[in-house]
Amino acid sequence: MLYWDYAAASPPYEEVVQTMEQIMRLIYANPSSLHRAGTEAARLLTRSREVCAAALGVTPQEILFTSGATESNNLAVKGAALQYQGRGRHIVTTQIEHPSVYESCLQLQALGWEVTFVAPDSNGVADPAGIAAAVRRDTVLVSVMHVNNETGAVQPLAEIGRLVKAANHRTLFHVDGVQGFGKLATELKEWQADLYSLSAHKLRGPRGVGILYVREGVALFPLLTGGSQELGYRAGTENTAAIVASAKAVRMSAENRVTYSKQVTPLRNRLLDFVSGIPEFTVNSTYSGAPHIVHFSYPAVNGEVMARKLEELGMTVSTRSACSSRLAEPSRILLAMGRDSSAALGGVRISLGDTHTAADIAALEQALLAAVQALKLVERGRNK
Ligand code: PMP
Repeated sequence: MLYWDYAAASPPYEEVVQTMEQIMRLIYANPSSLHRAGTEAARLLTRSREVCAAALGVTPQEILFTSGATESNNLAVKGAALQYQGRGRHIVTTQIEHPSVYESCLQLQALGWEVTFVAPDSNGVADPAGIAAAVRRDTVLVSVMHVNNETGAVQPLAEIGRLVKAANHRTLFHVDGVQGFGKLATELKEWQADLYSLSAHKLRGPRGVGILYVREGVALFPLLTGGSQELGYRAGTENTAAIVASAKAVRMSAENRVTYSKQVTPLRNRLLDFVSGIPEFTVNSTYSGAPHIVHFSYPAVNGEVMARKLEELGMTVSTRSACSSRLAEPSRILLAMGRDSSAALGGVRISLGDTHTAADIAALEQALLAAVQALKLVERGRNK
């Protein structure tokens, strides 16, 4: 089997697995305990915070560890909305955010906040002027992702940050950076981001660790209360082994970014050329998207059927983001881009990693052709 679902989960680096194992065996004391063993665990957390801060160009006090980007996004959106409700109860976001941002906004809406969901263009890119035009005096937060997890569309964050801050300098800017980090440059200062979320398992780190950058001077209403871990923003005993291993993955992904891009972009371009040449497909990704995602629709066939067929042919792909894949409805992202419901039900996402080779792409191309041929025969049989 060839694995093409890196955007859902990536295989951990060998160093990550080794670090996890070593620390689980040796450093099991609670980092909040005051004895020497606890202090040693706390020292490792401090070091991990420094490593993540260096990779993002921020200070260690601005880094929080959470249980994943779902929690980081929930804390950024709801924590900011609750903390700053005295300034206003309006939020601006896009129609293409990950469910952890989108549903957080819907939950706030149900509680009385006003949310403006800005539509993307047909390539899945949100217009900075459209976002800034939605910002008002009472807008406390703008939340926009770096790279869309379904199509790979890159959002113009520097422009969005600039226009949002010009429209209201008190409005906070949150970026869900999960699919962009390690693939594209992360420029928190240039974007004027106040909050930034990451997930370790998309970076060849372990499952269950998220990072949230909270710019100095920004406060959040904690969603998990209890102990005073993570500066009081996130109670709960820290997962020392997974956090240290995540910091390693963050550092390695940042160091490997340029090599990664050089290696993966030509493979992505070749695959995009190939799927664009198949008349049955509508392509939903572009060459200006992130280097690791190729998404297309086969409107005549449900995405799930196509994914199963490809699996029979030895290729593991997904239909959309893993978090939405159990939904039978058409993709919210593709509908927002103006695709019709058959295209929005017929999506297939191929996501690449730095372990793939040109030979793997050649094998995938053959499988795609074979799948289309097989499904066309089924369709023809059905229409007889
Ligand atoms: N945001 C984006 C853009 C994602 O792709 C994901 C993972 N599907 C998340 C947030 C949630 O991350 P996690 O799996 O760590 O909760």
